Amino acid sequence: MDIGFIGLGEMGVAMVRNMLKAGHTVRVWNRSPERAQPLVAEGAAVVGSPAEAFTGDAVFSMLADDTALREVIDATLLEHAPRGLIHVNMATISVALAEELAHAHATRGLHYVAAPVLGRPDVAAAGKLTIVAGGPAEAIERVQPVLDVIGQKTWRIGSQPQQANVMKLAANFTLASAVETLGEAASLVTAHGVAMQDFLDVITAGLFTGPVYQGYGKLIAERRYEPALFKARLGLKDVRLALAAADAVSTPMPVGSLVRDNLIDAIAHGDGEKDFAVLGEVSARRAGR
Ligand code: NAP
Repeated sequence: MDIGFIGLGEMGVAMVRNMLKAGHTVRVWNRSPERAQPLVAEGAAVVGSPAEAFTGDAVFSMLADDTALREVIDATLLEHAPRGLIHVNMATISVALAEELAHAHATRGLHYVAAPVLGRPDVAAAGKLTIVAGGPAEAIERVQPVLDVIGQKTWRIGSQPQQANVMKLAANFTLASAVETLGEAASLVTAHGVAMQDFLDVITAGLFTGPVYQGYGKLIAERRYEPALFKARLGLKDVRLALAAADAVSTPMPVGSLVRDNLIDAIAHGDGEKDFAVLGEVSARRAGR
């Protein structure tokens, strides 16, 4: 396929590499152009504006957040895009902006697919992301061969793009809650002289298997928060987005509010760039350790 790609951060670069490896033609654009250079040797064509990426069979975007999306995907860009183009937005953005983008694309004869992902940059590099896709079924079908090279599975969530964003935010909220409880449990057991690693060995042996409890539990047990694979600052962004989506439909999420405050606590203590597991440190600090 002839693909445009906008946003070459940690995730975007890994995705483009897999698209190129699979034989797709990829035109890339990034605000900081130097991030595109290493991809040239792998076959990417660097373009000078988002508009030049916004053409071909489909355009993918993987920008940081709502602000970045609003700055790059503006009305002029959509106005000049070829009718029928499919835009697949893989960033974690607000449900409200996803709704707005779906409408803005549809009124200009463009297709908008939300396809946020679960998995860190190393998972993206391995082409094993979990993708949750929302939008018109026919548009998703057309880009499925590309989704297949960046993800291990695409879950089709619904015909409205924002439904996929809700799914992604709910998933990250669940992750945040798990990390919060791991941190509190660590404070409890260590205060009673039980090693956190022993606690982890017991719970991950059957009750709570899987990468979240094992991975984040290990970081908390070792109080090791750098290098960050998923920064506390970005985790706070996602919890805030989940709370905003909940607010819009009058759905209380008291655990979400608590985790948001604890992440603000982490950031206030200078830990925003550290791994999300630093929630364990917030709990330890409160417990006097
Ligand atoms: P990142 O490494 O921080 O990259 C962010 C990208 O957005 C860069 O290309 C950056 O351009 C661009 N950008 C930021 N602000 C911009 C602006 N105002 N105008 C134009 N471009 C702007 O982030 P990432 O880790 O790749 O994450 C991208 C998205 O995936 C986020 O929504 C994140 O929540 C989501 N996500 C991340 C992970 C993860 O573990 N990292 C996992 C799942 C989902 P510059 O290079 O010029 O700064």
